[in-house]
Amino acid sequence: MGDLSEVNAATVRRWLEASAVALHEQRDYLTQLDAAIGDADHGTNMDRGFASVVAKLHELEDTTPPGRVLVTAGSTLVSTVGGASGPLWGTALRRAGKTMGDAPEFDGSALAAALGAALDGIVELGAAHPGDKTMVDALDPAVGALRTQVGEGAGAEAAVAAAVDAAEAGMQATVPLQATKGRASYLGERSIGHQDPGATSTVLILRALHSAVAGT
Ligand code: ADP
Ligand code: MG
Repeated sequence: MGDLSEVNAATVRRWLEASAVALHEQRDYLTQLDAAIGDADHGTNMDRGFASVVAKLHELEDTTPPGRVLVTAGSTLVSTVGGASGPLWGTALRRAGKTMGDAPEFDGSALAAALGAALDGIVELGAAHPGDKTMVDALDPAVGALRTQVGEGAGAEAAVAAAVDAAEAGMQATVPLQATKGRASYLGERSIGHQDPGATSTVLILRALHSAVAGT
């Protein structure tokens, strides 16, 4: 079983860096998904935002606690991304960071609480719920799986792996849905049959969390 207290500032930095790499690699794919039901900017939005986050990480002291790293990352996303995803993910990371306070490391239940606060921030700002065909369709089941696993005593890696599986299922389940929030909702029934771009980038970000927690 993994040691949940091993999640610290280095883990958070690895998470953000791995997210930036994945979002850069998948930029065109995310933009294609957004071209089908949006305005073809989701890949460039997320790539630009997380590249700015990584640049900002280098300006932070090595001793910056993980919560503060996340708050800074969130503020950077809000100020560098114009699309809906910037304020939404920015608020999410700021909320996650604030729940951690100045603790130097945190355990699985703190990680679940942080991701839960991230989800709450997204829902408060965007008012989307599961089934609306948004990033919430991936993040909500991920948070649920993480909480369940942590509650059953799973290690961090196993708990986040379960969260990734749940997010992937949620992402795939967006395909037959009709969008009722965000730009895709303007399409009405024509949004049916397409995978939501924000749910897709959410899976990439959670996979990056898994690799960071696994230490790879
Ligand atoms: P924009 O829609 O402004 O062009 P992006 O293309 O970067 O911004 O992001 C689109 C994604 O944002 C959607 O695929 C969806 O997952 C997510 N999204 C849009 N509106 C909301 C909302 N109100 N709540 C949660 N997520 C949303
Ligand atoms: Mg867009």
